[in-house]
Amino acid sequence: MPSPHDTPLDPPRTIADRYAAVRARIDAAALAAGRAPTDVQLLVATKTQDAAAVREVVAAGATLIGENRVQELVAKAPDLADLVADGSVRVHMIGHLQRNKVNQVLATASGVESVDSLALAEALASRCAREGRTLDVMVQVNVSGEESKAGVGPDGAAHLSRQVAALEGLRLTGFMTIGANSPDTALVRAGFERLRRIRDEVLASGAPGTGEARELSMGMSGDLEAAIAEGATVVRVGTAVFGARPPVG
Ligand SMILES: *Cc1c(COP(=O)(O)O)cnc(C)c1O
Repeated sequence: MPSPHDTPLDPPRTIADRYAAVRARIDAAALAAGRAPTDVQLLVATKTQDAAAVREVVAAGATLIGENRVQELVAKAPDLADLVADGSVRVHMIGHLQRNKVNQVLATASGVESVDSLALAEALASRCAREGRTLDVMVQVNVSGEESKAGVGPDGAAHLSRQVAALEGLRLTGFMTIGANSPDTALVRAGFERLRRIRDEVLASGAPGTGEARELSMGMSGDLEAAIAEGATVVRVGTAVFGARPPVG
């Protein structure tokens, strides 16, 4: 039976509806690119959403969430501890991380997608090695060169990745980027293609620890189709799942 939410005049309203609609967008984009929908994971970006909203999206099927501010991650952690402990959801840090906040992040997160310096990688690695655990990390690359964006420049990305991959306590799983903020789809796609080429170069290098660096975390609410066409294996989506965020203030 068709759901009343199927018509454009009556857009999906609940988090569960929107989550399903985003998953359908991802699946369609994967098929259009000749890829298997199961090759693309949906990471739900939960910034500004309270713990109740996060629990709602996990109930709707989300298994991977991303926080971009340490303070928010720490604030929500107690209310999500049961879901993390029983493996219902994994948490990735997707925003800029300062070295002195590493311990706070490691208490909850199983992955950090925003590694952009050797110093940060070393801080994460030494802590993990001491605890006898392994952290999944991605190197964040600033493919667009926009000054407002974090990440290592494309020219230094392969070198940093090999350094990170060699550190004990870290598992380099891939690469992350935020697409260019531009209406020019070709430009946005070129940035995603750049990240894919960096991934291919690092994988082909055969350098120690690079053998699992397959993931491409790229694409958000506005550009996930372009990212999937260029090989994204993780898309990070906030607005399309939760609705527009209130302005930060
Ligand atoms: C907020 C955020 C996203 C999701 O962006 P939307 O446009 O809301 O889908 C993805 N990645 C990072 C790093 C973010 O901070």
